[in-house]
Amino acid sequence: MKIDGACHCGFITIEGEADPDKVQICHCTDCQTGTGSAFRVSIPVPGASFKMTGQPTNYVKTTADSGRPRVQAFCPQCGSPIYSTSPGDGVQPSYMVRVGILRQRAELAPRRQNWFRSARAWVTQLDALPKNEKGMP
Ligand SMILES: [Zn+2]
Ligand SMILES: [Zn+2]
Repeated sequence: MKIDGACHCGFITIEGEADPDKVQICHCTDCQTGTGSAFRVSIPVPGASFKMTGQPTNYVKTTADSGRPRVQAFCPQCGSPIYSTSPGDGVQPSYMVRVGILRQRAELAPRRQNWFRSARAWVTQLDALPKNEKGMP
């Protein structure tokens, strides 16, 4: 399906083609730190269909869990995570786009969970918590 989206401030926009069956959660500790949250939700977009406006800031980190260097791209103005990809010049084979920035995110439910050994224990118990339709009452 076609996907498109933008960071929180709108400086970065992206579009591409992605397979909704490939939406995945990553519970690894690098994703917890990089998102400031409990896990990350991403979908791979092939480089051939990936288009972007605006220039993200890139941060390269060899992750403790996988041992592979990854480029983490985020908006230099608002800090929204945009994607991760392989290091190198030019178009990369694939971009792991962050589902929270996509306009179609309601249709992009995760299909699998990776690095579950690092998952916060409470992520499987969210349904038991009190729910407010808006923020704190
Ligand atoms: Zn931004
Ligand atoms: Zn991760």
